[in-house]
Amino acid sequence: MSIAENLIRVLARISHAEHKNGRNHGSVRLLAVSKTKPIDAVQAAVDAGQRCFGENYLQDALPKIEYFRDQNLEWHFIGPIQSNKTRSIAESFDWVHSVDRLKIAQRLSEQRPEELPDLNICIQVNLSGEASKSGLTADELVDLLKACTLLKRIQIRGLMLIPAANTNFEQQKQVFQQLANLLQRMNQQLGLKMDTLSMGMSADLEAAIAAGSTIVRIGTDIFGARQ
Ligand SMILES: *Cc1c(COP(=O)(O)O)cnc(C)c1O
Repeated sequence: MSIAENLIRVLARISHAEHKNGRNHGSVRLLAVSKTKPIDAVQAAVDAGQRCFGENYLQDALPKIEYFRDQNLEWHFIGPIQSNKTRSIAESFDWVHSVDRLKIAQRLSEQRPEELPDLNICIQVNLSGEASKSGLTADELVDLLKACTLLKRIQIRGLMLIPAANTNFEQQKQVFQQLANLLQRMNQQLGLKMDTLSMGMSADLEAAIAAGSTIVRIGTDIFGARQ
C-alpha cells in the first residue's frame, strides 16, 4: 500500500465513524504523525492532500518543517517536552498537544514570537490505567488550567490522551468518554471554551470518534510501522 492509498483508507475510516456516531462530516481532523519518517514520506502525504502533521522529536522535526516552509502546512508537537526545547517549539509549531506542567506553558507563552498567531495548546491528561506516565491527573488539571488562562500568546484548546493499549472497543471508548466528560466539566467549572479532544491513534480511532474526538493522531496506518 502506498502512503496515498493509506491516507484514503484512514480518511474513509474517519468519515464512516463520524457518520455512524451522528457527527458532522469534517468534525474530526486527521493529524498525520510523521515522527521518525523521512521528508519523502511527508512529501507523499502532502501530494495526496494532507496538511497537518504531528512530530514527537524536535531534532527530527525541524528539518522537515524547514523543508516545507513555503507550503503552509500545520505542525503539531505531540511528544514529551523538555524545558530547554520550548523556545524552538514555540517558534516552529502551530499546536502543542503534550503540555503537562505550568513551567512549560509559561515558557511557551513567553517564547511565542509576537508576529505569529497564538500557539494552540492541549493539556495531556493521565487517566488511571494508562501506559504512559506523562500527563496530569484530573485534580492537577484544574490548577494548571486556571493558571494557563492568564498566559498570553497561547490558546488553551483542549485535552490530549494516550491511553494504555486495549483491543476491546467498549473499553477503549469508556476511557475516551472519561476524557470527553472531563473536558465538559472543566469548561463548565472554569468558564472555558475548550473545543478540542486530541484522542485516537491507529488502533483505536473509531472508539475515540465515538466518544467525541476532534483530532485523531495517526502514524502507523498512514506511514507504516516505525523502526
Ligand atoms: C506515535 C504517536 C501517535 C501515532 O501512533 P500510531 O499508533 O502509529 O498511529 C499518536 N500520538 C502520539 C502522542 C504518538 O507518540
